[in-house]
Amino acid sequence: MKAFTYERATTPAEAAAMVARNPGARFIAGGTNLLDLMKLQIETPQHLVDVNHLKLDTIEATPEGGLRIGALVRNTDLAADKRVRKDYGVLSRALLAGASGQLRNKATTAGNLLQRTRCPYFYDTTKPCNKRQPGAGCAAIGGFSRNHAVLGASDQCIATHPSDMAVAMRLLDAKVETVDSSGTTRIIPIADFHRLPGATPEVETALVPGELITGVTLPAPIGGVHSYHKVRDRASYAFALVSVAAVIEPGGRGGRLAFGGLAHKPWRVEAAEASIPNGAKATAAGVLAGARTTPQNAFKLPLVERTLAAVFADAKG
Ligand SMILES: Cc1cc2nc3c(=O)[nH]c(=O)nc-3n(C[C@H](O)[C@H](O)[C@H](O)COP(=O)(O)OP(=O)(O)OC[C@H]3O[C@@H](n4cnc5c(N)ncnc54)[C@H](O)[C@@H]3O)c2cc1C
Ligand code: SF4
Repeated sequence: MKAFTYERATTPAEAAAMVARNPGARFIAGGTNLLDLMKLQIETPQHLVDVNHLKLDTIEATPEGGLRIGALVRNTDLAADKRVRKDYGVLSRALLAGASGQLRNKATTAGNLLQRTRCPYFYDTTKPCNKRQPGAGCAAIGGFSRNHAVLGASDQCIATHPSDMAVAMRLLDAKVETVDSSGTTRIIPIADFHRLPGATPEVETALVPGELITGVTLPAPIGGVHSYHKVRDRASYAFALVSVAAVIEPGGRGGRLAFGGLAHKPWRVEAAEASIPNGAKATAAGVLAGARTTPQNAFKLPLVERTLAAVFADAKG
């Protein structure tokens, strides 16, 4: 790990200003992703701004009938919140499918949205990676690509986004609230928050340097059977090969679906949701339109269909 300086912010605008005036600075929340990356010298911030004392750790009802989740709410507390368990079961289940109890106790809402890919070549500094070092090349293309993207990838990067929580938030049409160093706030729909890799895989979100996430809002609850199915190599403590967040209406008349493990961002195809009454095969065909596979990750296509079949069967009860 390289030497760095550290300071603690007490207000969101102050935190944003502290990072903005130091181009080598990063926010640190739970540290469960950033510190790992610093130990490997994949991230080498010269300065850390601790955001744990910004009082952004509460979950509150909104006037619109939804919830506002502070950026510093721990994954454990969000999953256990009575309102989340009752009205946003898909979110609670997605959170509990992620990481381990100890990690969830530290991991924050904002940090989880901003965690970086688990592509093994991103973590191996002896291998070329356009995300780690723009212009270097991509060792995953033509390399070991079993975990990689089948949708929305580019010739520069085929990494997937690893967050479970973000998949449920995409399904729920969450909105990300931010503040910048001038105190200006903005609201970013989660559909626009994570980016596809294109020619700049190192640019992963819509945030500008120094912009701080202050919270995430959920709209009023949607009825139906909430579920999160995560297919992975081990029963726990593993990232998704394919995951499906679902809210299915009674009788399977319709619903919403979002997918993890398939792309550089949580994947949702609203048009494909019209096929839900026609079953898993038809719905998977709509979701996977335009998919491009490698010999190693082609198994994800039938896996999507089978996981959807399990989701629909569970929703019937
Ligand atoms: C062994 C292991 C297994 C895991 N398994 C899973 C899994 O199965 N599913 C899953 O979803 N996740 C998994 N995770 C990831 C874990 O959930 C994330 O590391 C965690 O959510 C990150 O949150 P954090 O608060 O620790 O972020 P940090 O490490 O503190 O920060 C992450 C990034 O977010 C930035 N940041 C933090 N807060 C803010 C803010 N308010 N505004 C702007 N930027 C901010 C930081 O600068 C940094 O770039 C796993 C992690 C580990 C180590
Ligand atoms: S897939 Fe993306 S993250 Fe992985 S090596 Fe290629 S450029 Fe890097």
